[in-house]
Amino acid sequence: MCEEKSAAELLRDELFSTQKNAALTMTDEEIHEADRFCEGYRRFLNTGKTEREAVDFAIKAAAEKGFRPFDSQAACKPGDKLYYNNRGKAVILAVIGQKGLAGGVKLIASHIDAPRVDLKPNPLYEDSELALLKTHYYGGIKKYQWTAVPLSLHGVVILKNGQCVAVNIGEQPGEPRFVITDLLPHLAGEQLKRTLSEAIKGEELNVLVGSRPFRSDKGSELVKLNILKLLNEKYAMTERDFLCAELELVPAYEACDIGLDRSMIGGYGHDDRVCAYPSLAALLETDNPEYTAVAVLADKEETGSEGNTGLESRYLENFIAALAHAEGLPARDVLCRSECLSADVNAAFDPTFPSVLDKLNAAYLNKGIVVTKYSGSRGKSGTSDASAEFLGRVRDILDGAGVVWQTGELGKVDEGGGGTVAKYVAGLDVEVVDVGVPVLSMHSPFEVVSKLDVYMAYKAFKAFFNVK
Ligand code: MN
Ligand code: MN
Repeated sequence: MCEEKSAAELLRDELFSTQKNAALTMTDEEIHEADRFCEGYRRFLNTGKTEREAVDFAIKAAAEKGFRPFDSQAACKPGDKLYYNNRGKAVILAVIGQKGLAGGVKLIASHIDAPRVDLKPNPLYEDSELALLKTHYYGGIKKYQWTAVPLSLHGVVILKNGQCVAVNIGEQPGEPRFVITDLLPHLAGEQLKRTLSEAIKGEELNVLVGSRPFRSDKGSELVKLNILKLLNEKYAMTERDFLCAELELVPAYEACDIGLDRSMIGGYGHDDRVCAYPSLAALLETDNPEYTAVAVLADKEETGSEGNTGLESRYLENFIAALAHAEGLPARDVLCRSECLSADVNAAFDPTFPSVLDKLNAAYLNKGIVVTKYSGSRGKSGTSDASAEFLGRVRDILDGAGVVWQTGELGKVDEGGGGTVAKYVAGLDVEVVDVGVPVLSMHSPFEVVSKLDVYMAYKAFKAFFNVK
């Protein structure tokens, strides 16, 4: 028997903004589909732990779907699928629309770099018969979280002969791993008096890489010598080659299901590969869209988007300008008619730390993708702040496609804050708003997301690329 709703309940249903858990509104089939989609996402997390590896993954997947390298001299026609590899660390993918470029492009911008620990240019030293590597952390990390966890080493080394050697140690079963050591609690009396931000200092993020000396009666630094000998045997490199390298330490473990209900994924670098993967998947499935669909997987967001692979660089503008030029259109006319979802994560409400978020304006796990009108800090400093008109359009697209979505602010007013690439896209005279997946333990070596939210990102991005 079902009871009649009261007048107040009916009016509430009509007027209140209520947000249900996605699991309560999705069908069984769609929940199954979301879980299946996340299997692919987990493979991406495990194969593309750095920006270079994520670019390799994206280009391989795109090439299999018939995408070809962008040639600024070649003509394009509707339906063409292109990719532009920016120095192996960022990639733009595009499907030319039926309307060409005249109506602007539908752009989704995400980033594939994640907080980590980079090697210094001269990293290797021996102390007390241990071989260690000096590091410089990349992005905003709580440094103490990166000690006593297994790490793997990824990147490239340019040898004296010009050869580029790819390094990847610690991901395959049976391979050695590395670790940043921490002090035992028995002797940590003084360390425990430090503030959390100083608990482990930047110069204490030293990575243990060896302890067995090169067997010889004579000579010094024999442990370091033995490590260099092993590196030389494997990669033909010498100590001097560290100067011409980009070597990054990331957590060595794989992503896994979290919870007895397997509703979540724990892993390294959800920020922002949890948006990059759905945008890539959505674009690879986009055929003959009305508008030209563009996905950019950018580098350097975690350090401020500076550098020629970050979105403060002009490579995205130049790419769109080249497409516009091929149609005889001025780039500025294309850019000002373009719309962008800046796809980046937001903080999920954590009941253990409720005080930092305004409950009414916080994002929650399982309530779908988060539309973030503005980021920044203090008095909306450092944000592009999306317009009401554009938010109205985005709402139409999301509601029209049955996407579960919510709004979220990054922290209470004056609690802190952060930024995304949105302001750099806005700087190109493009409409832009932040849309992304809520994350727990963001920027830690083991972040958590909900599978249903990941799927809703994919669904939202697909609807955006295929908008009429
Ligand atoms: Mn991010
Ligand atoms: Mn981040």
